[in-house]
Amino acid sequence: MEMPGYVQNVLTALEAAGYEAWCVGGCVRDLMLGRAPEDWDVTTNALPEATMALFGSHAFPTGLRHGTVTVREEHRSVEVTTYRVDGDYHDHRRPDTVVFTPSLEEDLRRRDFTVNAMALSLRGDLRDPFGGQADLKAGVLRCVGKPERRFGEDALRILRGLRFAAVLGFAMDPAAAAGIHGHRALLKDIAAERIQVELFKLLCGKDAAAVLREYPDVVGVFWPEILPMVGFDQRNRHHCYDVWEHTLHAVEAVEPEPVLRCAMLLHDVGKPRCFTVDQDGNGHFYGHPEISRELADDMLRRLKCAAAFRETVVRLVEWHDRNIPRTDRGLRRALRALGEEDLRRLILVKRADNLAQAPEYRDTQREIDRAEAILDKLVAADACFSLGQLTVNGRDLAALGLSGSEIGRTLNALLDKVVDGELPNERTALLEAARKL
Ligand code: ATP
Ligand code: MG
Repeated sequence: MEMPGYVQNVLTALEAAGYEAWCVGGCVRDLMLGRAPEDWDVTTNALPEATMALFGSHAFPTGLRHGTVTVREEHRSVEVTTYRVDGDYHDHRRPDTVVFTPSLEEDLRRRDFTVNAMALSLRGDLRDPFGGQADLKAGVLRCVGKPERRFGEDALRILRGLRFAAVLGFAMDPAAAAGIHGHRALLKDIAAERIQVELFKLLCGKDAAAVLREYPDVVGVFWPEILPMVGFDQRNRHHCYDVWEHTLHAVEAVEPEPVLRCAMLLHDVGKPRCFTVDQDGNGHFYGHPEISRELADDMLRRLKCAAAFRETVVRLVEWHDRNIPRTDRGLRRALRALGEEDLRRLILVKRADNLAQAPEYRDTQREIDRAEAILDKLVAADACFSLGQLTVNGRDLAALGLSGSEIGRTLNALLDKVVDGELPNERTALLEAARKL
């Protein structure tokens, strides 16, 4: 892994004009870890106007007030920001003012974690005034400066910290951990959209479960619904974990993709509200998928998640506890209700949920395997489960003299029969049936 050519070009142009220019922050961290950086940031002593003038029509004033110019090079973007120090913070979000500085070290000092506070030049010189390289080697997240102050200035750093811990598998320095717990309430001031971005990255990190286990209080600031899960004894032989531990195991058991991880995090969120104990002392959670569904819908709306994302997660939560069908007809019905993509997701959700139950009950995996094999067979055979796949359409029914909502109703009735195996998906048979209906 090395600096890509387009980034080198930006550094070269700035240096040729007599300025200092460095790659900085996350891209340096990732480069040193051998990971592909998400984006490339450059820091320079050139003032924003000078950067604008230097790159001409390739430069865009994205955040001039904060000193940021976006430079387009070879159809890629590089953020070029002037060395700066942040002024006072009053809202735990953004500095009231920023002041440009001629000192690279001052610019590095404003950054959140030591591993994010290193700069790398075109020639490979490293500037690392806070021991970032040592922390990177040790796998430690340490704040630049006093944690209480840094989290107090900008509460988003709390979630960034948890996200880096989960994604990189790093340990939180104890002082940073204490600062995070102590300042978590300040997350209330952070925009939902920014919380959402960090939370979903966290959830997809390799150490997501471990981080969530350590910091449910932090997630509880914006999603208090999760808190009753922590330590909630299920009193049921299917479960060897409390609701929260079960949830964390389920999160870990599903592939790191936001919809799936989010569905696992929320699938049992309604359980504590549905708890009953029968005469024999066994715990039950009747109706928990519906309650979880409602809570999840509200939680995802509050976080301003995209509608399609929310609807998919909520659907998986609602369906997670139903028995997976193991007949052709049952699976065709499930296909009709969910579509192939979501049915395949549901299979992954059910697998993960089951893997997080008591070991004696994990043989459900074989039933899920069978369902999946039937699903594969149906899809390979091009089984009909949606209106678009029917061999007749609305126009055919209009030609038979049907109109308005009759057409939709009849098409759906035909599809029901095809899905249930009562009619073949053949034109003549369907037109005949439509006449009778
Ligand atoms: P990613 O891999 O998601 O890009 P990153 O660390 O590069 O992570 P960016 O948002 O790209 O994060 O920010 C680039 C750099 O800017 C960071 O590495 C860090 O030095 C600094 N930075 C970003 N956000 C903050 C913040 N809230 N407080 C302090 N420094 C920050
Ligand atoms: Mg970055």
